[in-house]
Parts: sequence; structure tokens; C-alpha cells
Amino acid sequence: MTTDLVAGLTVPTNLLRGGAWVPAEDGGRFDVVDPATAQVIADVANGTVTDALACVDAAHEAAPGWAATAPRERASILLRAFDLMVERERELAELIVRENGKSFEDALGEVRYAAEFFRWYAEEAVRVSGEVRTAPSGNNRIMVVRQPIGIALLITPWNFPAAMATRKIGPALAAGCTVILKPASETPLTALAVGALLAEAGVPDGVVNVLPSRRSGAVAEAVLADPRVRKLSFTGSTEVGRTLLKTAADHVISSSMELGGNAPVLVLEDADVDVAVAGALLAKMRNGGEACTAANRLYVHRSLVAEFTEKLGAAIGALSVGPGMTGAAVGPLVNAAAVEKVDELVQEAVARGARVVVGGQAGEGPGFYYRPTVLADVSVDAQIAGEEIFGPVAPVIAFDTDDEAIALANDTEYGLVSYVFSQDLARALRVSEALESGMVGINRGVVSDPAAPFGGVKQSGIGREGGHEGLLEYTESKYIAVDW
Ligand code: NAP
Repeated sequence: MTTDLVAGLTVPTNLLRGGAWVPAEDGGRFDVVDPATAQVIADVANGTVTDALACVDAAHEAAPGWAATAPRERASILLRAFDLMVERERELAELIVRENGKSFEDALGEVRYAAEFFRWYAEEAVRVSGEVRTAPSGNNRIMVVRQPIGIALLITPWNFPAAMATRKIGPALAAGCTVILKPASETPLTALAVGALLAEAGVPDGVVNVLPSRRSGAVAEAVLADPRVRKLSFTGSTEVGRTLLKTAADHVISSSMELGGNAPVLVLEDADVDVAVAGALLAKMRNGGEACTAANRLYVHRSLVAEFTEKLGAAIGALSVGPGMTGAAVGPLVNAAAVEKVDELVQEAVARGARVVVGGQAGEGPGFYYRPTVLADVSVDAQIAGEEIFGPVAPVIAFDTDDEAIALANDTEYGLVSYVFSQDLARALRVSEALESGMVGINRGVVSDPAAPFGGVKQSGIGREGGHEGLLEYTESKYIAVDW
């Protein structure tokens, strides 16, 4: 079964298992909803535990052949996937808009970013190196080789349905692993389209299996309990990450976790306010605020806070809101629950004394809209400063000293990314080193780059995706003691 939801792009709606597109074993399907209209736009196979274990069988059967495939050949296939993705970037972007809601411009940016993971890991596939050392005794050699870790379960969220999949599939395939991808139930179509594109690029049957399923807990538990599965790579909420880590612990499975964020923006006393506003706008509003890297708390030096808030309010208030395909800058949120949660956080902040500079309420239905919002004078204790907002709301809080800003920024269980604005590079670097986060952007509102190690500290995650580090997550080092 397929859907022609997007002109020029036929998307399979069954499971991809061992190179075949098959229905769920019990025939079950689930709906995909367009967040701009709240209407059902497609339905896809709802994978069962039996389907999940059949995907493990397929990945297991394909594993020896793929691990033995020359790195140059694996690289060529990934490069073909990159080319196909770029060729179809507009169609894929439209598909993302239809099931996720984001603006077309954001979706196009995502497809290009997603494709780059195939190109980057095509280049990395031929650069997996080992090491030979001399034992301290001088009597023998210590040889270390890197081998594919084995079958990987990849679980992805709905906010970047293409990029979170390719950021895992790219390095896994480059390293010689076979995978089972379980996409988020809100956005399975993009993952299925990526699966089809990889097959077209020449990925052998069974190397990539795609398993949409609303039974995520049961499916993940069954796959992780199978001793043939050696790797879990998860991107999603910290709450689900914790649950999965417990399951993985029962089977001692290597786990990479890309979890929630609560990114602080620090606008220091000597910042260029216009640069800071432009950076904060990008860090806050890219993807309508539905990003783990989204600016969640804006700490601005007291001497700049009035000017910053006014300019940010004007910029955010000027953003057009509407269905992603109409050219609007900000699309709907993913579902009704997301709108409700964002509004609760805003109303709680207002009840604690925050001032609404712009926005402050849900938009017009039938889609799931929230008006782009700036809140001033937000209490440091407001819930909105402590929780991931995942919506187009920017809470501004004043501070007096760099040390105070650092302490506020670090006062969270999260540690994914921070943003610092200052015209003094030495000062910005000093502050960056004191921030408890896996990534820092200085004078810019975007850090994501396929060539860079992306990931968090504290409860934002374990491990890195992207860069050379991202490939190592899918390898195991083996030490061979050698006398020669
Ligand atoms: P989520 O609710 O944690 O879901 C993520 C994925 O996990 C989905 O595929 C979901 O499937 C699945 N899942 C849910 N419960 C599960 C369980 N008990 N066992 C196994 N899998 C389960 O997160 P989300 O709402 O999709 O995404 C938003 C979150 O992702 C935010 O917290 C955001 O910060 C985080 N995120 C982090 C990064 C990063 O790189 N650090 C990047 C993007 C997003 P179903 O959809 O079927 O429930």
C-alpha cells in the first residue's frame, strides 16, 4: 500500500521488513493527522511484537553480508541516498509539513540537513581506523580494531522526522550495522519515505527495516530482549529515555540517548543587542520552537533587557502563522495536547507576574496553533523556566552578573545546548566553559552540523551523534594481543 499525498512522491504505508513492504501481521493500521487541519491524511501499518521480531530476523540475516561489504561500497550507497534526497528535497519537505506541521522553509532546511548525514557518513565510512601500540613491557603488540557493533534499534521523535532518522541510519550503515527504525507515531510517513529512498539507493534487503508502531513500549522491549540486538539509539524525551535505559540495562545493551533540552540564552552586558535578538529569534523559532535545541529561557543583562525585549517582541510579533505550505513562518504545533501544555506554562508564568509582550494565547483552529509569544519579567521559579516548552514562547529574565547568569543557566537537570552573546570572545569562552551543556553557540542561534558531535550532558543524554564520534557509537573496539 502507498499514499500519493504529495505530488511526485509515492510513499509506502506498510512496514519495510527484509526488503519487502508488508502489512502488520494482524492487519492493524493507525491514522496520521495533518496538524494544520486536524484531518486524517493517511494510515500506516501498526507493527506488532511479532513484526518487530521478524524485523530482527531480517536484520540478523543481512548483518554478515553488510558488515563484509567494502567500506567504499557502503559509502557509494550512502552517497546515492544523499543525491536522491537532495533531488527530492521539495517533495520530502512537503511530506514533513503535512504530517508534522512545520513551515515549508523549516522542512526544506530539515531535508537538506538530513541528507547531509548520508554524505558526511559516506565520507566517514572509509575512515574507520584501528590502532597498534607497543605493550609497556616491550614484549608484544596491542592491536585494536573497530568492528560493527551489530543490530541497532533506532527510535526517533516526531519533531525532525527525517533528520533524526538519517542522523542514526547514516553512521550505523557506514559502520556496517543493520538497523530497525521505529519512528514516532505522529510522523511515520517521512521515515517510510526515507526507507524507500535507501532501498532505491541500493541498500541490500534487511539492512534497513522500518517499523511504524503505536505499541512502542512493547515493541522496544521485545527487540531489546532479543540477544541478537546489540545497540539502542534513542532520540526523544528524557522521560521515555529513562524507561528505555532501564530496559537496555536488563540486557546490557550499549545505549545512545539524545534527550530533552532546556536551552538557556545568555545575553551578556557587552552583547550586540541586534545580533542577540537575531540569534535568539532563530534559536527560539526554528521549527516553531519544537526543537530540543530551542531557546527555552532568555537571561538578559539588566542594562539591555528593555531594548532586547522590545526588539524581540517586534520580531516575533511580525512572524506569520498558518499552515506550513502557505508560506507562513510558523506552522501549527504537532497536536492539541502540545497547544494545551504550552498554554498552561504561559498562564502559570503570567499568574506569577510575567508580562505578555506579544502573543500569549492559542491561535485559531481547526489546526493546532499557538501565537508566537514573548514574556517579560518572568520569575526564575516559573514552571516555564524549568520545563521544556516545545512551542513558540520566549520567556525573558533579567540578571546582573555573569556568575548569576551561569548559576541560573546551570540550575536544571538538562544540559543539551546553551547560547552566549557577547562581543568579548575571551569572556564568552570563559562563560561557555562554565556552562553545563554538551554544546554552546557563541553569537549564533544554531549549532547543529552533521560534522559536529551533537549531544548533551546531565539528563539530556549519553553519547554523541554527528561528527566522527557519531560513527564510533556504532562500533565496538576489539583488542587483539599479538606476538610478532
Ligand atoms: P517521546 O514521546 O519520548 O517519543 C520519542 C519516540 O519514543 C517515539 O518514537 C515514541 O513512539 C517512542 N516511545 C514512546 N514511549 C516509548 C516507550 N515506552 N518505549 C519505547 N519507545 C517509546 O518524544 P517526542 O515527543 O516524540 O519528541 C520530543 C522530545 O524529543 C523532546 O523532549 C525533545 O527535546 C527530544 N528531542 C531530543 C533531541 C536530541 O537530539 N537531544 C532531538 C529531537 C528531539 P510513539 O510516537 O509511538 O509514542
